Amino acid sequence: MSGEESAPLAPGLYLVATPIGNLGDITLRALDVLRRASRIACEDTRQTQKLLNHYGIATPTVSCHEHNERARAAEFIAEIQRGNAIAVVSDAGMPGISDPGVLLAAEAIAAGVPVIPIPGANAALTALIASGLPTAEFTFLGFLPEKAGARRTRLEALAAAPHDTAQTLIFYEAPHRIADTLADLESVFGPALRIILARELTKLHEEFLRGSVAELRHALADRERIRGEFVLLVEAPVRSAGAPIQNQETIAARIASLQSEFGLDEKEALKRLARETGQSKSELYRELQRERARRK
Ligand code: SAM
Repeated sequence: MSGEESAPLAPGLYLVATPIGNLGDITLRALDVLRRASRIACEDTRQTQKLLNHYGIATPTVSCHEHNERARAAEFIAEIQRGNAIAVVSDAGMPGISDPGVLLAAEAIAAGVPVIPIPGANAALTALIASGLPTAEFTFLGFLPEKAGARRTRLEALAAAPHDTAQTLIFYEAPHRIADTLADLESVFGPALRIILARELTKLHEEFLRGSVAELRHALADRERIRGEFVLLVEAPVRSAGAPIQNQETIAARIASLQSEFGLDEKEALKRLARETGQSKSELYRELQRERARRK
């Protein structure tokens, strides 16, 4: 890179990866681009300013988030066509990965403007390489739907998808939803499903929790508060086309076995299952109804 620092940056849209926690995780090239760009388009200018201050970078910033990305695209393309370089950053990691930047890149490409990736930190891949799970084939799925019903439907579709080799599924999840997501994973894939929770990657309290979904659900339930950012990795069971979903125990089957084991009626069995799983009785009941409707 020597000698290039003083030369003007070639005009284009530079998609620049920034740290996911540890400010040291930024490349020399990323810093150079941020320093020499005409402007930096930020998901949140205040967040990026902390990074720029840390590295003594004085490039002007402009906001570019999911609500104004389309309008900004036209403005940036015109600026690049006049010979400028625009750097794009999100709050953390790679722009465009569960973050703004996708539309900007697509519009720039459509306008014939150069799009230049500046690689660096990304939470999904950082979690994957230290997870111990297969890396030859993995699927990044971003955030699951927020609504309980849609989330269950998505997980059921994933559990039903055939694949002949070991696969790792990677999700992003918010701390206030992680307990519900694990409960859904357990009831769709069964309690033995092997998962990893990668928390606070690259930060002071980085941790990897490894075990079955049932174990990790209990481990989190024992914590006073669930804090921090999570990547959730799932070792999807190998499943050939047409084979039944392994490990899956339906709510109906669990209710039936509680009824016969303890001589309970359905309502009492639901109550007991709710206590055991930490799920609400009404959510379990809704799921039971969904299972029954699917069987009709
Ligand atoms: N663009 C980012 C990337 O390249 O990884 C992802 C942005 S997405 C809006 C934010 C999510 O990424 C968080 O909810 C969390 O799931 C994951 N994440 C980001 N930083 C993380 C960290 N330090 N540790 C664990 N997960 C993280």
